[in-house]
Amino acid sequence: MDAVFSLAPVDVPRVETPHRRIVTPIPAPGTAEIMARIGRVESSSALSQLPVIWDRAEGYNIFDPWGNIWIDFTSTIFVTNCGHAHPHLIEAIRVQSEKLLHSYCYPTEIRVRYLEKLIATTPTNLTKASLFSTGTEASERAIKLMRLYGRTLDPVRKIIVGWDGNFHGKTMGAQMAGGLHDQKAWIGYQDPNMVHLPFPYPWVVEKSNMSGAEIFNHHMDGLAEKGVDTDLIAGFIVETYQGWGGIFYPRDYVAAMREWATKRGALLAFDEMQAGFGRTGRLFGYQHYGIDADLVICGKGVSGSVPLSVVLGRGDLIDLDPAYTSTHGGHPIACAAGLANLEILEAENLVEESRRKGELTRERIHRWKARFPKRIGRILGDGLLWGVFITKEGAADDLDIAFCDSIIGRALQKGVFSIKTGRGTLKLGPPLTIPDEALLEGLDVIEESIAELVAEG
Ligand code: PLP
Repeated sequence: MDAVFSLAPVDVPRVETPHRRIVTPIPAPGTAEIMARIGRVESSSALSQLPVIWDRAEGYNIFDPWGNIWIDFTSTIFVTNCGHAHPHLIEAIRVQSEKLLHSYCYPTEIRVRYLEKLIATTPTNLTKASLFSTGTEASERAIKLMRLYGRTLDPVRKIIVGWDGNFHGKTMGAQMAGGLHDQKAWIGYQDPNMVHLPFPYPWVVEKSNMSGAEIFNHHMDGLAEKGVDTDLIAGFIVETYQGWGGIFYPRDYVAAMREWATKRGALLAFDEMQAGFGRTGRLFGYQHYGIDADLVICGKGVSGSVPLSVVLGRGDLIDLDPAYTSTHGGHPIACAAGLANLEILEAENLVEESRRKGELTRERIHRWKARFPKRIGRILGDGLLWGVFITKEGAADDLDIAFCDSIIGRALQKGVFSIKTGRGTLKLGPPLTIPDEALLEGLDVIEESIAELVAEG
């Protein structure tokens, strides 16, 4: 695979502030060589990412080996919510690693300390959990639990409902439940008991003249018309917001879904991989909808660092499969990290900080829109998760992927590292610990990048 961004170093102005430093051409000389070596030995998505060699990261900064320092607007894709290499996290990992480096699913004290803290911190209807390593495993787990539950009601009740465009991971079940249909050809068939609803994008809702609740019910009628026996729905797997654009469902749409599911004994599992652990200014993103979840699928920010994923749920659901095992699930280091992560979130009030900094961010991004009305469309998100739609000149929902990527590339040259969605949206997700000054400086860099590129035509 070839690198997606140009690897030819470009001379750029030197940058030196308390928050970022650029002292070489960008990509830094040396970057191309390491990326070429990766390409020779790995079929890696590393090559589709921004050309920065991550050498070290601390707080809200990423360091390459050549003296450049970026403000991180990715949290390494929503993992390091509590900041890179938080000292409390490092200490917890150090202490645990000196004691016990692996434990399979044998009982350990760190495991129960972590789980007790997790259950105490999360909504009260979530009383038990299972532990895994990757997000996609946790999605698979939620699917299995929903089906096991369906079978307790009716031996043939096993339909899982997902949404077009949603993502739950790249193993087979998670991918089938997800709605990125063009990526599933390799599977060769679709489980007829995994079905999808159209996603209620804001532009669809606006044109429909229907409330969110009416749209949900209309889409459910559509499923039935396609021959799906909706009485056999075991559960819904819901990505809390669609990742590429920070696109939430209408609140009354989710309320209608909750009502539908509760009436018929179906379950709601929220995929909080990106949304969880304070990202959107609530502990879990689904809490914005004002409803309860039956299962919550967590990964990424759950540990702020090492591989850990969790399915949290009502105790009766988690207990449906007590014999599950996962060799590295509940790894002692992951449990130590998960516990330290919760302690940091609490001690530093990071959920509230995310909400507060989100308001600062919202205000800045709306200022960009006022300045570049032809190039900025929708601004979606909450807390420290934002999707900014970069449009073709004045075309509200027609996204300009090339222009968006050029903004990301220009910001990179100036010391801000952001997420490349490849969809025409700027997706912003800094660590929740980022100081206000660094956050605002990073946002100003993006504004400056847009201004330059607009002026260059
Ligand atoms: N679900 C969502 C919403 C995600 O964003 C991701 C990863 O990006 C996953 C599931 C899969 O997680 P993992 O890559 O840890 O398997």
